[in-house]
Amino acid sequence: MSDHAYQILVLAGPSGAGKSTLIKHLLQSLPDVYFSISTTTRTKREGEIEGQHYYFVSQEAFLAGIENQQFLEWACVHGDYYGTSLKPIQEALQAKQLVLFDIDVQGHRSVREVYPKATSIFITTKNAQVLQDRLEKRQTDSLAVIARRMATAFKELQDVDLFDYVLINDNLEDAKEMVLSVAKTLRYKQQMFPKDALYQAWSGN
Ligand code: ADP
Ligand code: 5GP
Repeated sequence: MSDHAYQILVLAGPSGAGKSTLIKHLLQSLPDVYFSISTTTRTKREGEIEGQHYYFVSQEAFLAGIENQQFLEWACVHGDYYGTSLKPIQEALQAKQLVLFDIDVQGHRSVREVYPKATSIFITTKNAQVLQDRLEKRQTDSLAVIARRMATAFKELQDVDLFDYVLINDNLEDAKEMVLSVAKTLRYKQQMFPKDALYQAWSGN
């Protein structure tokens, strides 16, 4: 495990709660941030870009990735495979970047097993109707897909106790401020501090 794992911030919670929107805000607001681009077997949505939103692969290629131990974690979510590749995460942590994850609750559990010092925010809406409205308004999924995501959303709530923070994404500006505040604190973790340099400065060398 890398010491720099203090620099991991996981955003998880139901599809449609606002994770991508908030991650975009963090990427625009902070320097040295790395967003973990997942690999998925899900069909590409209109407007999604290969290598920016996801790496879109066949089920065969995904299973080969599992076999080759490519993934830090992977899960089957709403009937598709999603996984986080390990190597780019290790490289980003080594480069002392803040590493952002947009993953589901199963992925959160797995990341916490490998990196117990990671910080996590469970993001949701104040009730099911708001989530349903957002998914419908987003117009990226069919009604059948939305129904499946709504059913998963309720199950995901059961994991809320495992998170460091919980955010009800109601007013978007407030939500942006909250995630930015949490992200900013990570750089101040005692373990991230260059202690040797401080000792040297204090001892006058
Ligand atoms: P996720 O990544 O969790 O699936 P998105 O970031 O795609 O969710 O957000 C789902 C939809 O809800 C998007 O259309 C987004 O613009 C919208 N949205 C996000 N946050 C809010 C908010 N606080 N109020 C209203 N709409 C929001
Ligand atoms: P979507 O299809 O809406 O992009 O994502 C569906 C769900 O899969 C979301 O909850 C998202 O956070 C999750 N997800 C995306 N990438 C990964 C990943 O690499 N691992 C896991 N476990 N979940 C992921």
